Formats: sequence, C-alpha cells, structure tokens
Amino acid sequence: MPDRLSTALQDKLSKRLSYYDDIGIRSFYRDRFFARAAPVLEQAPVSIPNPQEEPLPKTSPKPVLPPAASITVPVTPKVSVLPIAPKVSLFDALNKVADDSLLKIREDLGECTRCKLHTTRNKIVFGDGSAKADLVFVGEGPGRDEDAQGLPFVGRAGKLLTQMIEAMGLQRKDVYICNVVKCRPPENRLPEPDEIKTCSPYLLRQLDAIDPKVIVCLGACSAQTLLETNRGISHFRGQWLDFRGRKLMATYHPAYLLRNPAAKADVWKDLQKVMAVLGLEVKKGKSAGTQNPS
Ligand code: URA
Repeated sequence: MPDRLSTALQDKLSKRLSYYDDIGIRSFYRDRFFARAAPVLEQAPVSIPNPQEEPLPKTSPKPVLPPAASITVPVTPKVSVLPIAPKVSLFDALNKVADDSLLKIREDLGECTRCKLHTTRNKIVFGDGSAKADLVFVGEGPGRDEDAQGLPFVGRAGKLLTQMIEAMGLQRKDVYICNVVKCRPPENRLPEPDEIKTCSPYLLRQLDAIDPKVIVCLGACSAQTLLETNRGISHFRGQWLDFRGRKLMATYHPAYLLRNPAAKADVWKDLQKVMAVLGLEVKKGKSAGTQNPS
C-alpha cells in the first residue's frame, strides 16, 4: 500500500464519493456483496448539462399514448420484496383513514409544526398532480425553488423530471409528485430520521388515497424510506419491488442525473418498465432503451 494516494486515485475517490452523495448515501458499511454491485459505480466523468438542452431521450420522439383500443397489454412483472424487513415498520402502526382524500390530508397537515423543519421553511410542499394518478413520483424533500413556490420539483431537477414524464408520453398533470418530507431541510441536507418519521404518515395517506398502480422513488432517500432499508439504491434500482401491495420502482434522482448524464440510460430503462406496466407505448430498439438518452 502506498503511504499517499496518487492524484488519479484521489480524483477517482472524490468522484465516487460525490456520486454517493448525489444518490443520498452519506454513511458507509461493509458489504460482502459489494463486488457484485459495483458496476453501476463505473460511470462516465461528470459534467453538468443544461436540462433544457437535454430532452430525455434525445433520439426518441415523445412516445404517444396509445388510443383506447390499442393492442398495448400492460405487463404484470414479478415483484420482489427486499429481504430486509425491519423489526418495527414505520408504516405498520398507521391506521388507514376511512374515506381519505388529498384534501382531508392537507387539512389535517395544516400549518404543520410537528418537526423542526417548520422553523426554516417558507412554504409546505404538499404534492401536486392528479388525485387519481396511476403513477406517483416520490422525491426526497423540497429544495429552494420548491420551498419558495410550495410546489414539488420546480427547480432544475424538476425540469428534468418534467422531461422524463413527457418522454413517457405523459404530462405532469397526469401523475402525482410528492416528497418524503414536505418542508425544505436547511441547506438541502438529507431529511433526518425524526423528520421522516413525523412526515411519513402523511405521505402514506397520500399514497393510499391516490392508490396508484406504480410508485417511482426518485433517489435513495425516497426508496430507503418506503422500503425501510439502509441498502444502497444501486442494489435494487430498476427492480420491481413491493410497497404494501403496490408496485414500486426505485430509480436515480433527477438531481443526480444533472451531474451524471450517463446514468440517464439506466433511468430511461427503469421508466420503460413503468411504461410497460401502465400500458404506455414503449419504443423498442436502441433509440428508447439501449442508448444513453442524454
Ligand atoms: N428534489 C426533491 O427531492 N424534491 C423536490 O421537490 C425537488 C427537488
């Protein structure tokens, strides 16, 4: 072992740590399966694209929603359960609210002061979109733009998410978008466990009230919260998982894609799986799935 790391190795390590940071992994533990999960880390050098110039996917025109009588048959994928169920679930203790609705949940939330995030937030970001959506995206927590406007995913990452939704042949109003926590964590830090615990019942009620066919978790925080795991997202990204009887797909956060455009190809593959389940037209061939749509 050399005494000092070479500059090249330092650079590589720094990029890798920044990659972990982007997907919300800020603590590490030994994993004897690491070697198997490593390939996702071997990604192209980072550059920050302008999301407006980077429609996703580049080579594929917007998929068109099939007409009602189309032959698209939604697929029923095999859903796995992560073998890491916690002893006490964050969600099991929660009682289902009869005749729940987004309106009722918003009213119950009120001008929330249940956790410390209320002291620094400007606006609560409850969620936005269709109350009857088949598809719900769950992010981490509001950022500066979201905190100012009271709407989820309206900043740079939000613009990329909008492009992703449109590339699926949908519009933002067709889906529902929300976050694990409804108030901006200061300095965009990760939501802390007590904040997640306090806010999750409202997220859970939102998911139950909407009753979507598919939940897409954007990034590690969202996936780890709903799946109640501390495993890195690279271990289960792109697989169909179960969330209380619903299909859940975890994929990378759009903010991560802004810094790592090479990962858009993986996300597009994940979204194509979602499209297949929702009966949206999936473009076959290299333009839609196998090429990096940056
Ligand atoms: N990032 C998130 O996770 N959520 C938002 O609403 C915006 C950015």
